[in-house]
Amino acid sequence: MFDYTARPDLLAGRVILVTGAGRGIGAAAAKAYAAHGATVLLLGKNEENLNRVYDEIEAAGHPQPAVIPFDLETAHPNQYDELAAMVEREFGRLDGLLHNASILGPRMLLEQITGEQFAQVMQVNVNAAFLLTKTQLPLLKLSADASVIFTSSSVGRKGRAFWGAYAVSKFATEGLMQVLADEVEGVSAVRANSVNPGATRTSMRALAYPGESPEKKPLPEAIMPVYLYLMGPDSKGVNGQAFDAQ
Ligand code: NAP
Repeated sequence: MFDYTARPDLLAGRVILVTGAGRGIGAAAAKAYAAHGATVLLLGKNEENLNRVYDEIEAAGHPQPAVIPFDLETAHPNQYDELAAMVEREFGRLDGLLHNASILGPRMLLEQITGEQFAQVMQVNVNAAFLLTKTQLPLLKLSADASVIFTSSSVGRKGRAFWGAYAVSKFATEGLMQVLADEVEGVSAVRANSVNPGATRTSMRALAYPGESPEKKPLPEAIMPVYLYLMGPDSKGVNGQAFDAQ
């Protein structure tokens, strides 16, 4: 596991947007950020899931989060502009953006995947992250210390049979991170890095490995050290790097 211990007030006063915050790794990250003092903007498709995370954060007495129901597959580019306008109006800036939401798509040979299936995975995993990055960047630049985290995978660093569009989308995610990191280097207080969570006990993992005993893999809460490190001031100056959570 990535070796880092976050102090309790690590993210005090920061405004952090997390995609896919309703369940899995995104929910754990949203709760960890709130527990360390951040105001977390919970973005996801399923509002019920987001509300559950909202209630947990509120019940724990952490800063009041915000719920943003948003479908990354179908949202029109205008909706990204409207989202940025809302964040600016309500919060005035953004200090952190965790691109976590993704879909697995079909696990089959490339020759079996339809164009539609391929495009759907690229839409959620890559195009949406591009549009969100692009529209939130002006707000991230208003922060004194802003961090963008992209979520990769081991198949985003070395391709593997049957991982199809998902693997390709994670290579593209690393590319997006590297281009952004190079563009912000030395000219703003924004940094960008990627995290490969490694095998983690979520519904996506169960979908990818139906035969595996889930209890053998760590819960999302266990892989939070790198997510906290990269989001907080201790990683200032760290830019364009690919991290492993485990
Ligand atoms: P998960 O349990 O399947 O959760 C996926 C999240 O993405 C959910 O919160 C879901 O929101 C959101 N999402 C999916 N489609 C969306 C859409 N159209 N609009 C908005 N939100 C959408 O996955 P996970 O295992 O936590 O994975 C989190 C990240 O880690 C992903 O990027 C994944 O590729 C990566 N990863 C995971 C593992 C692992 O072992 N778990 C390993 C390597 C990489 P709703 O609840 O609203 O549907």
